[in-house]
Amino acid sequence: MILVFRRSATRGEVTHAEERLKEIGLEPHTLFGVERTVIAAIGDERVTSAEELSTIPGVEKVLPILAPYKLASRELSPTPSVFEIGGGECEVKPHPQRAAFGGKFIPVIAGPCSVEGRSQILEVAQAVKAAGASALRAGAFKPRTSPYQFQGLAEEGLEYLAEARAATGLPVVTEVLTPTDVPLVARYADCLQIGTRNMQNFLLLRACGAVSTPVLLKRGMAATLDEYLLAAEYVLTSGNKRVLLCERGIRTFEQHVRNTFALSIVPALKEKTHLPVLADPSHGTGVRSLVPPMARAAIACGADGLLVEVHLDPEKALTDGAQTVSVQDFEKMMKECRAVAEAVGRTM
Ligand code: PEP
Ligand code: MN
Repeated sequence: MILVFRRSATRGEVTHAEERLKEIGLEPHTLFGVERTVIAAIGDERVTSAEELSTIPGVEKVLPILAPYKLASRELSPTPSVFEIGGGECEVKPHPQRAAFGGKFIPVIAGPCSVEGRSQILEVAQAVKAAGASALRAGAFKPRTSPYQFQGLAEEGLEYLAEARAATGLPVVTEVLTPTDVPLVARYADCLQIGTRNMQNFLLLRACGAVSTPVLLKRGMAATLDEYLLAAEYVLTSGNKRVLLCERGIRTFEQHVRNTFALSIVPALKEKTHLPVLADPSHGTGVRSLVPPMARAAIACGADGLLVEVHLDPEKALTDGAQTVSVQDFEKMMKECRAVAEAVGRTM
């Protein structure tokens, strides 16, 4: 349920309400809005009633949250959330530069699929920055279909990413595969990526919810919209409020692409949730030539950010080369996307 406070409610009344909810057995999640304060009371609602909660001092009205996901829903937060990644919160080679998601500006997260070596990541970081990227992304821990494929450089890769951040100021996004690795990856990263194969790894979702590093949660390749937002809800209800969503293509019968880029979920998600919604045309298509046109389409339909795989020499990429664009293609793509962004009232 949502407790909506009167405009005149005091901090003391809000604190009292939080304590009352805990006594009753509900978890309060408080949002201090510009106009009003609201508390989402999360838990088994059979312990109380809307009538009982509306007698708490300062409360103007009590509303049900009808969506199965509560903290992620627009019912709780009708206006879109805007939040930053970066800002020097990580431990290893922090940098104060930030990137804000969910606002008028559309940030692009770019980089190679994997960290392959020190000079590779340092050079590509400079190149994507020069082309206008707002954050660097590359995997140090890779979820590979075959155990015989390159698995990533692990902590050595994280070190190189931290160096690339120090050199460029770009916040770093990188994947975490297991709950036990969360503290390690959070020491180096500005944003923890949870990949498509782990979207319903509930222990990992909770572990990422327990740290303050923002999370980039990719859509499971067979997940429905409700399942996706309930996965985000695991992170939110564990205490981490900064969750970026990202459509990366789903599995269908289609064979001319690696995945079917289901872009209609972008506006659909934005109707249901206040969280920023990004799109990944690289995994979404799996085909290099299709990345720029689908990046433009993602911007046109309202994506709040892009995730794009870029490599200095895509032919030689150790992972996902077929869907990776060159630096030159990325520069061109950015220019084209800027024109589309302008046409839909945004900037890039
Ligand atoms: C990746 O971003 O390189 C990746 C493995 O993504 P996904 O989880 O979407 O397959
Ligand atoms: Mn990849």
